[in-house]
Amino acid sequence: MDLYSEIIKQNPNALSKAITLAESNLESDNIISQNLISQFKKNNNSVRIGITGIPGVGKSTFIEKFGQTFLNQKKKVAILAIDPSSEKSHGSILGDKSRMNELSANKNVFIRPSSNSGDLGGVSNKTKDCILLCEAAGFDIIIIETVGVGQSETTVSKLVDIMLLLTITGAGDQLQGIKRGIIELAHLIIVTKDDGDNKIKTKEAVLEFKNTSSINAPIDDYWIPKVIKCSAQENTGIKEVNELVNQFISNAKSDNYFEDKRLKQEKFWIHKIIKEEIGNRKFKVLDSENRLCKIEKEVIDDKKNIYEIIKSL
Ligand code: GDP
Repeated sequence: MDLYSEIIKQNPNALSKAITLAESNLESDNIISQNLISQFKKNNNSVRIGITGIPGVGKSTFIEKFGQTFLNQKKKVAILAIDPSSEKSHGSILGDKSRMNELSANKNVFIRPSSNSGDLGGVSNKTKDCILLCEAAGFDIIIIETVGVGQSETTVSKLVDIMLLLTITGAGDQLQGIKRGIIELAHLIIVTKDDGDNKIKTKEAVLEFKNTSSINAPIDDYWIPKVIKCSAQENTGIKEVNELVNQFISNAKSDNYFEDKRLKQEKFWIHKIIKEEIGNRKFKVLDSENRLCKIEKEVIDDKKNIYEIIKSL
């Protein structure tokens, strides 16, 4: 199968195969994958959304409904679920993705659970490659789902345009179980399961979050996080989350924040990959000799593939 042309034709089997190559730990697979990815042009038309929250918070149920709001807007939705646990335990804290029944039956949806290895928390430059492949295959909305228990969220925030933190009311402290650092990364804090007897508690939780100072600090001096409640079970508040995301993206685009952020993220990954491949010390030498800027430019302008450059160093 010619993966390049099949991906352009939006063939989901080709996309699956390409992701398997990208995630593989075999160098030979990675070379094929890097060559493939370097053929696709960059695309700033997609929207990359990170969704995080502790296991059981309701991420799958939420994504099932949230994804539908984009399908209603004639968008194609890819969901990459990163599960750091599955390799170790052979089980999955993300659980059974078949819960996203409606979405998985839709031809405009691609769902891929993956247990990326290598980086702490499961997120790595392989995840970035998977995003690029989904975009090349015509997906407009890329959802990266992670469990808010590890280091992965900080890395995910370097891959996505907007971060959503899902939370629930709990016994006592609403922030319990969620690492502080994660809260500071979230553009939207969503208190879910706002239904039945829980409604009073969710209202209180929203207020409590709104009064938390770290939430009121703007992210990148740009965006003050918003707190909102929803029930995925009753499908309430989900449309509002979609509207907030679309509003954020549209503002970010008109303010150039969107493009700036993607550029910064691209540089972050270029640096990270170079450091991993040639070591910190040599990286510093490159930087001090002003060669780094040239490398960045070549990669950002789609002139060269980062791995090609590294080989030539
Ligand atoms: P995940 O582990 O974060 O993906 O969570 P799931 O989506 O699997 O949900 C965990 C449990 O919470 C399941 O039993 C769901 O039925 C339940 N759940 C999810 N969303 C809601 C909601 O909006 N309201 C209520 N009452 N239960 C929910």
